[in-house]
Amino acid sequence: MNAPTPVERIVGPVIFLGAPGAGKGTQAKRIAERYGIPQISTGDILREHVSRGTALGRQAKEIMDRGELVSDKIVCDMVESRLSQADCDRGFILDGFPRTVEQAKWLDGVLAAKTFGGKHLPPIVIDFEVGYNQLLKRLTGRRTCPDCGKIFNVYSQPPRVPDTCDSCGAKLITRKDDTDEAIAVRLKSYEQQTKPLADYYRQQGRLRVVSGEQEADAVTKEVISAIEERSA
Ligand SMILES: [Zn+2]
Repeated sequence: MNAPTPVERIVGPVIFLGAPGAGKGTQAKRIAERYGIPQISTGDILREHVSRGTALGRQAKEIMDRGELVSDKIVCDMVESRLSQADCDRGFILDGFPRTVEQAKWLDGVLAAKTFGGKHLPPIVIDFEVGYNQLLKRLTGRRTCPDCGKIFNVYSQPPRVPDTCDSCGAKLITRKDDTDEAIAVRLKSYEQQTKPLADYYRQQGRLRVVSGEQEADAVTKEVISAIEERSA
């Protein structure tokens, strides 16, 4: 089956906020496909710069090889150069950036200098809200195939045979960072980091809260209406 033709509208900047397990990735992929706009994550940009061996990529690799975190400056430079590419002309989805209020303010500056279809457009910020217990359940259900990397979830996407990879038949494992304790730490740190960011966008009247506990199709529908309300 061919992918449907993307809807060629001016979408503008869209930012997705949501804890690990909130379903951001799935929604970003759907929205990106629907409008034919890129889904941009800092992890992907970073990997791309490193594999292309750009100046930024070489700088970042050196830092990561030392086991340190890449600075805000490098991340922002990479995002800025990504947003200047032609495929971002009608809009884009930022997934996992900004992470801090400082980055959000920096991004506002970048967007103020950009136009979409001749217009300046502030970001639409979608916050995928999922309760703590639900997140915990989704994340602890994750099982990974150690051989081919395929990911399953015992609750939402179980393998056909319990504990066995559908693709290659290997025995599925729970990764170290998917254990209860590791997940609790991850969710706590996400909450602490993101709360001020959500507040920042709420104060500007840009935050749209969407319940991520609904079925994926219902979530997608709400995201689409948030986007199309603006561009109508
Ligand atoms: Zn496998």
